[in-house]
Amino acid sequence: MAGEPQPDCLFCKIVAGGGPATLGRKTERTVAFRDIAPKAPTHVLVIPHVHYPNAAALAAAEPEIAGELLAEAGRVAEDEGIQDYRLIFNTGAGAGQTIFHAHVHVLGGVPMNERMV
Ligand code: 5GP
Ligand code: ZN
Repeated sequence: MAGEPQPDCLFCKIVAGGGPATLGRKTERTVAFRDIAPKAPTHVLVIPHVHYPNAAALAAAEPEIAGELLAEAGRVAEDEGIQDYRLIFNTGAGAGQTIFHAHVHVLGGVPMNERMV
């Protein structure tokens, strides 16, 4: 079945509680935890429990969970006390994706006025 845990996936292990991460917010369908190599004062990853290779695949298969991922990203920012933040979904190795389990980066706590697009 689509979305089931993959034995060799680091983020599936974190969802199951067996991976290297200090968990933050946890809901029935998402988990948030700090990135192990932070690129900003706030650098939190929010992931769905279900395994899909990237955010678009998640949204195509389970749009409600993709929506929850965004809502949780907003709650993480609120918990961190930041109003201005950047959400990043790297998709594909050529875009810097290294973990092929859908996730959103919540980055903030420092001015990020330079535009990428
Ligand atoms: P990607 O590059 O795929 O968009 O993001 C994967 C992120 O996961 C990277 O920013 C990387 O630092 C983070 N990461 C990789 N391994 C671990 C880990 O074992 N624990 C935590 N907390 N983050 C990790
Ligand atoms: Zn996974």
